[in-house]
Amino acid sequence: MDSCIFCKIVAGTIPAKKAYEDDDMIAFHDINPAAPVHFLIVPKEHIPTLADCGDKHQALLGKMMLLAPKLAQELGAGYENAEDGPDGGFKALFNTGPDGGQEVYHLHLHVMGGSRPWKGQR
Ligand code: 5GP
Ligand code: ZN
Repeated sequence: MDSCIFCKIVAGTIPAKKAYEDDDMIAFHDINPAAPVHFLIVPKEHIPTLADCGDKHQALLGKMMLLAPKLAQELGAGYENAEDGPDGGFKALFNTGPDGGQEVYHLHLHVMGGSRPWKGQR
């Protein structure tokens, strides 16, 4: 998809702060973070939305979901490490379609976490 910004990041034609890459997916930090740690897990295949996934994407979706806690841990938003926030942990979210707030129509899993100093707890 020539016009797709995430395809361009996958192809390396526009830069991103990459945190992970394998044959099937990449992860990079969100350019406009909504949390202290906010990264996106993105399949290399151009799939517009979660609603476009089918049986053939089952393994890919599983890999994306399983990467979330591992990478969250590495990047300082892990649930295994209570020092990462008041209780540790993160949100993992697929915005899907206009009513889901999706802006980039290339499937991506948002992972958001990290300490929440504005809550006055740390
Ligand atoms: P959506 O609303 O589609 O679920 O989220 C798209 C996300 O992609 C937004 O959080 C936005 O900040 C992020 N984003 C959009 N363009 C770029 C970009 O060029 N680079 C990076 N790293 N993130 C982007
Ligand atoms: Zn794309």
